[in-house]
Amino acid sequence: MMQSLKKILQLQELDMKMLRLMEVKEKRQEELADIRALRKELQEQLFKKQHEVLEFKKSIRLAESDVRDVQEKIKGLEAKQSAVKKVDEFNALSQEITRTDRERVNAESKIGDLIEQLQASEEVLQSLEESLESTTENSKILEEEIQQSIQTINVEGRDLEVSRNELSKDADEELLAIYERLLHNKRDRVVVPIENRTCSGCHIVLTPQHENVVRKGERLVFCEHCSRIHYWQEAQVAEATEEEGTKRRRRRQVTTS
Ligand SMILES: [Zn+2]
Repeated sequence: MMQSLKKILQLQELDMKMLRLMEVKEKRQEELADIRALRKELQEQLFKKQHEVLEFKKSIRLAESDVRDVQEKIKGLEAKQSAVKKVDEFNALSQEITRTDRERVNAESKIGDLIEQLQASEEVLQSLEESLESTTENSKILEEEIQQSIQTINVEGRDLEVSRNELSKDADEELLAIYERLLHNKRDRVVVPIENRTCSGCHIVLTPQHENVVRKGERLVFCEHCSRIHYWQEAQVAEATEEEGTKRRRRRQVTTS
């Protein structure tokens, strides 16, 4: 295999770790956003209910003052009635008193309705307060856990970045640029082995000629279907073992000398 490709393969492993890490981070951030949205939603409902309760109380006060006005009016009419002497005036006042008393009954029944609505509203408000309280308490623990895990992810991410920068220093610049462009598009492994004459990236069968060129490892070969870079895996294993053997021999030399 091309020597320059090996470095890219190492880089790719770091990039895959980074991609997975960022996926996890994104999921955790979504969880955090969901928790906050739920709390916000509850809070908004609570504010709405509080406002509603206040409005009902205000309406009740107004209706009560209406009743008082009507009662005053009736008193006035009754006083007037006891002073009149003519029968037709008396009867006219009687009718007005009856009409005004109906107003009073209506206003009082309106108060009754409003009180019922107020009570229902207050019940909902109370359960909202309770549920907001328990949600806030529960979500606090969960939120802290998630924040903690995001922090851990950030630390891991920075470590990965450091390793990657170190590794990319002596990578082939041109190849690195090609690799990064591919990675950016696919967000997946873009330097892939041929397995059973198939691209292990897109799983499309390749021609024997294509396989041969890759096996030779003399130049960069792209998958004609998915544009990924191909390499020959057997060679990699053999070379790695060979490298390992060289290291071991060297180490032995160091110890014996
Ligand atoms: Zn492919």
